[in-house]
Amino acid sequence: MSIQAVRGTKDIFGDEMLKWHRAEEVFREVALAFNYREFRTPIFEQTELFKRGVGQDTDIVGKEMYTFEDRGGDSLTLRPEMTAPIVRACVEHSLLHHNPIQRLWYAGPQFRYDRPQKGRYRQFHQFGAECIGSPHPEADAEIILLAHEALERYGVRSFSLEINSLGTADVRSTYRAALIAYLEEHKDQLSEDSQKRMHANPLRVLDSKDERDKSVIQNAPLLRDYLDAPSRDHLHAVLALLDNAGVVYTVNPYLVRGLDYYNHVVFEFTTDALGTQNAIGGGGRYDPLFSMLGGGEQPAVGFSIGIERMILLHDADHAETSAEQQPRGVYISAIGDEARLPVQSIALQLRRSGVHVVTDLLRRSVKAQMKDANRENVAFTIMIGEAELAAKTAVIKDMKTGEQVTVEQTNIGSVVLAHE
Ligand code: AMP
Repeated sequence: MSIQAVRGTKDIFGDEMLKWHRAEEVFREVALAFNYREFRTPIFEQTELFKRGVGQDTDIVGKEMYTFEDRGGDSLTLRPEMTAPIVRACVEHSLLHHNPIQRLWYAGPQFRYDRPQKGRYRQFHQFGAECIGSPHPEADAEIILLAHEALERYGVRSFSLEINSLGTADVRSTYRAALIAYLEEHKDQLSEDSQKRMHANPLRVLDSKDERDKSVIQNAPLLRDYLDAPSRDHLHAVLALLDNAGVVYTVNPYLVRGLDYYNHVVFEFTTDALGTQNAIGGGGRYDPLFSMLGGGEQPAVGFSIGIERMILLHDADHAETSAEQQPRGVYISAIGDEARLPVQSIALQLRRSGVHVVTDLLRRSVKAQMKDANRENVAFTIMIGEAELAAKTAVIKDMKTGEQVTVEQTNIGSVVLAHE
């Protein structure tokens, strides 16, 4: 039996690859426009990093990590997210000593042992950015605007932005106690999952999609009513900056995000177009994370967007316009054995001058080469046979109009480039 890709992983190839390239181009462009620099960390890290950084009580650490012991006996984990690795690297390289603001972006694979379905994979990819060093609302707004700009520029349409504030640790601990007391009162009406979670991670109950929980949640106390003045001011300052930028959002008092390290502003980009996988991306302020990872006090805010979901949403948004590729480059067809060698030198010269060139590697007949040129979707076919070899010329056929002209071999590049 042949071997197949691991469940929850996907090969990316063919036309799908073009969508990825375009997405990556957009990230690079937008990140550059905001003066963010790319950062690449290893695919695996010490398991301890995620236990401390993401939190023991989260689903990610509790049941989704790909953790293994290497041959030296160290416990390693394939990264399930990028914020903890980036913070680890910032501390390790003392980056904030060199510049008190670090603006960093990344794109790469993440790994979570989740139940695979459309839009949910075990190896998936995220694009994201972190703004480290500023406690001010301008940093939160910059991060949200960068994410928003990337989604818009990539061309996704059906998404909305939801925002909430988790306040400070003190605010959350007062609220937590009030929430647990309320959930205790309604324990019998809650789902089993929420009953288990309500003491360790009561805020996560607010995220539950279970119908039984929803009716209890409706009347639960809201964190919003417990926020202190500085937390409220911070949230309102961020919202004012978004208003100023013309970004539309809704404040969702139930939005908590799953990870332990967030405080103050959290946000999520959501959609109704992808069924149950309604989150395209999200993030928030994570001031506590640096000290959790031994890096002292350091304010920071960031986001990540799921690339697969962004592409799926783009496809859903643009179902009517097929992603047809424009014809591109040239096919050089050798007519007869004599022409094979010179065709290869012409191909190399053209490639060096920036032309995209295909030659036949199967020694096919002229007719079969013409068919191949069509399949390769080239803009021109160049034919070189005995007569052309003798005269140092080539016949160039415009594949769209069918028009043919004979040119000097030395002029092929300029004729082709003039049309590109
Ligand atoms: P999170 O770190 O869980 O907030 O995830 C950020 C984004 O990554 C989500 O909004 C999704 O777009 C994407 N994402 C998270 N988990 C998966 C997964 N298992 N498969 C595909 N995309 C995912």
